[in-house]
Amino acid sequence: MGARQFAGAGHTRAWLRRVGAALLAAGLSAATHAADYGGPLFDAHLHYNDEAFNGLVGPHPLADVLARMQRNGVRAVVANSRPNDGTKALAASPLTRQAGVTVVPFVRLYRNRADYDGWFRDESIYAMVQAELARGTEAGPFRGLGEFHLYDSANAKGPVAVRLMALAEEKNLAVLAHVDDVAIDLLMAGTPSKGQKVRLIWAHTGIGGAPVARVDQLLARYPLLMGELSYRPGLTCEGGKLCPEWRALLLKYPRRFMIGSDTWVNQRWLAYDELMQGYRSWLGGLPPDVARSIAWDNGAQLFGVATP
Ligand SMILES: [Zn+2]
Repeated sequence: MGARQFAGAGHTRAWLRRVGAALLAAGLSAATHAADYGGPLFDAHLHYNDEAFNGLVGPHPLADVLARMQRNGVRAVVANSRPNDGTKALAASPLTRQAGVTVVPFVRLYRNRADYDGWFRDESIYAMVQAELARGTEAGPFRGLGEFHLYDSANAKGPVAVRLMALAEEKNLAVLAHVDDVAIDLLMAGTPSKGQKVRLIWAHTGIGGAPVARVDQLLARYPLLMGELSYRPGLTCEGGKLCPEWRALLLKYPRRFMIGSDTWVNQRWLAYDELMQGYRSWLGGLPPDVARSIAWDNGAQLFGVATP
């Protein structure tokens, strides 16, 4: 080894020390940040609406949305759409099976945007739901109703809302409801079991930000109430990690929450990767069994979906 090479080796040793120190620092920071959740995801709140794909053209044909699910490890979805054709297309396509995605179809109550504001008193909606339930999809029978919205909680007492809740209880259908906490009590009160036997999935677990203590109270009161977590205010804090009071609630009720994309507008399809990565990130901060329950098991068990 010549002098020149020896000097080079000296440099190499110094460089190795620096690299070693950097690797050690990286290792330490990796140890303080838990790994992201890496298992399957159950997207419990997915829409495949007319503006995404109307059966002919559209920015998000089946191959596009299925590729988004597949690359994010989403192996099952609760699908509903306005109108119901999108859900049926998703359920029927061989592409869905090829992508390894199980579709749990729900009947949407809206044929168009106008139906949002009056469905709870519109008898023609009840008739439409009955007809859709009788028809089913190529992936099997519809498993739930919704998503429906109540912008005024008092409309939970509307005649069609009450009849649909009773129908859900009678036929063991889940209900995906975008409502506030007051409407949860009202919807439950109107059912034959007073809410004890209704599988209500609370979309966003209160998009208006019902306090955690109130969410806790409702989960305790209604044993089959589930919370879906898209758009939930106050859920995540700095760095996309769970805020402390939400972390405590998820740990208290690990079997009662699910994640969802809520692809209600096309921008949500464009953000699908980010949304799922966001879930994987905060799920990684929970004990692995709790993360797995919220990410997959709770939805899979609710609808009897086999684990991939
Ligand atoms: Zn939605």
